[in-house]
Amino acid sequence: MSSIACLDLEGVLVPEIWINVAQRTGIDELMATTRDVADYSQLMQQRLDICEKNGLGIREITDVIAGLRPLDGAGDFLSWLRENSQVIILSDTFYEFSQPLMRQLDFPTLFCHRLEIAADGRIAGFQLRMPDQKREAVQALKNLNFRVVAAGDSYNDISMLSEADAGILFSPPENVVAEFPQFPVTVDYSGLQAAFEQVL
Ligand SMILES: [Mg+2]
Repeated sequence: MSSIACLDLEGVLVPEIWINVAQRTGIDELMATTRDVADYSQLMQQRLDICEKNGLGIREITDVIAGLRPLDGAGDFLSWLRENSQVIILSDTFYEFSQPLMRQLDFPTLFCHRLEIAADGRIAGFQLRMPDQKREAVQALKNLNFRVVAAGDSYNDISMLSEADAGILFSPPENVVAEFPQFPVTVDYSGLQAAFEQVL
């Protein structure tokens, strides 16, 4: 059967965008990620409220993102994976944020969400394309008769990993490892490649 690899983006191929925004703007409240708050809508609303309070709009945030690079070795790993499987990135980021990083990864297919940007550049809100989109995408691909192998690092990947024919954790925090011992844990790209080789 043909295989498709579904990869999370932040924490797997690129750094956590909001942690970098927090570091470069000095706004510590923006440090929270899906590793800390499991409910993504709640986390995003919290982030947008903090941005509003601090006058951070789309321009300020995309300026930070434009200075980010994929994680060391991510490009080579992705090239290897694309030679061995079809690859789709399933991310809870937003198209408005992802462009500079996707360019550095040669624009792999990306399913994510959209922001609502006001005329003055303020981030007015966000639209999750659909609830639990990572799991829905995996289920849809399985219905198209693909075998799906998924890899991710955090809470928002668990439904994707569970729905997939095989799920792999990459560099996850300890609480995720402890809560979901059913998934193999990898800590670097050679380990992740080996895990994919076993199940593709
Ligand atoms: Mg992630």
